[in-house]
Amino acid sequence: MFILIALVLAVGLGVALKKLRDYRRAIRSLVLSADAKEPFLHEDEPASLGVDWDQLCARTNELITENNRLNQLRFGQLMQLEATLGSLQEAVLIVDANNYILLANRALQAIFPRAQNILKQRLELVLHSRDFLAYVDAVRASRAEPQHEIEFVDGTQSTWIEMTGALIPPLDGAKGSWALFVLHDITKQKKLEGVRKDFVANVSHELRTPLSIIKGYIETLVDGHRDMPIADRERFLLTIQRHTDRLNSLLEDLLTLSRLESIYPGLRRESTSLASLITGLVDDYHARPAAAGHQLAFSIDPAVGNLLLDPLKITQVFENLVDNALKYTPKGTHIDLSARLREHAVEVCVRDNGPGIPAEDLPHIFERFYRVDKGRSREKGGTGLGLSIVKHIVQLHGGRVWVESALGQGTAFYLSLPLRAKD
Ligand code: ADP
Repeated sequence: MFILIALVLAVGLGVALKKLRDYRRAIRSLVLSADAKEPFLHEDEPASLGVDWDQLCARTNELITENNRLNQLRFGQLMQLEATLGSLQEAVLIVDANNYILLANRALQAIFPRAQNILKQRLELVLHSRDFLAYVDAVRASRAEPQHEIEFVDGTQSTWIEMTGALIPPLDGAKGSWALFVLHDITKQKKLEGVRKDFVANVSHELRTPLSIIKGYIETLVDGHRDMPIADRERFLLTIQRHTDRLNSLLEDLLTLSRLESIYPGLRRESTSLASLITGLVDDYHARPAAAGHQLAFSIDPAVGNLLLDPLKITQVFENLVDNALKYTPKGTHIDLSARLREHAVEVCVRDNGPGIPAEDLPHIFERFYRVDKGRSREKGGTGLGLSIVKHIVQLHGGRVWVESALGQGTAFYLSLPLRAKD
């Protein structure tokens, strides 16, 4: 009897275990189908799983089909949106409720060249900026400013973006709003703003020092000139004169620069012999006491003919370069001017064998108000604008200017002037 019961139980258990295995296998196949978004072919499964199972499979298949349809719809709508937004100049970014990127147009990739193939990636992994993520949160919480400026830093490079964000209903009808951002690259404006601020600060600083010295000396003279020894009075007046000259040169250079940077820089080109211009200039210098201690020479390739240029402005270029060589090198230094013909340009070089310029200063040397040795420049009446004026004049002629220098060996300023001037 026992044996019979045990046998029945064993058979029953075997059948139940088989059914369980069938269910597990069937459920696994169902899950795989759902993951693959493909309908489940339950005909492959044993019929013994019953009516409920068939209903479950049918319902799951309906859901899979509906999900596929919605996905296609969403994809189609996204494609349409992308086609519309793709050609916009403004960069556009759309993320879903979980910050997965759904759309990024071409303009966005132009701003962030590294952000290629970013669709379906999380925003925080693509655009690294805490400020931006905080802004995204603010947009989601409807407490964002209408426009917000954000700096994206990539290594040493900064990109400034003016950002507008808004919530939009999701195209797939899912829960949670999507967020749309319009990004406007304002890096250039920001840089210009910085340059302008620095410029105003520099000019104010440059004007303040001589002005306060002049004011101080004049006050002393006004109060005490009657009892002051004549030698002191003279010394005071000479100091006032020196600082007035400095103010004058600064204003002259500022005016020159502002004219050169304006839309009417007043370039008067005429056919000019560079050889005569340089010869005349060196002769002038030989007559000047300031150049007496230096050895000035020139060499001009006879093939260098006439060029269409503004002789007064190009003379100013050479004067600024030669004056600098005289100011920043000791007596006895050789200063050579040379001109030679290149393929499409004439290359002029003003070279000295003075103390040279440190390598770290070379990239900044043509910036306004940049000086290697501030004290020495001021003491020599420098404004810090001479090389900036040189660069502007050469560029107005369609040329370029550069410097080569080695400490202890000297400095060479080169300018290349195109043979055919473009108007
Ligand atoms: P500055 O009015 O001070 O001379 P510049 O723009 O003409 O202004 O020159 C910028 C700086 O470059 C100078 O302050 C000086 O430190 C450096 N410099 C220019 N020319 C030379 C040179 N030939 N040798 C050494 N330093 C030079």
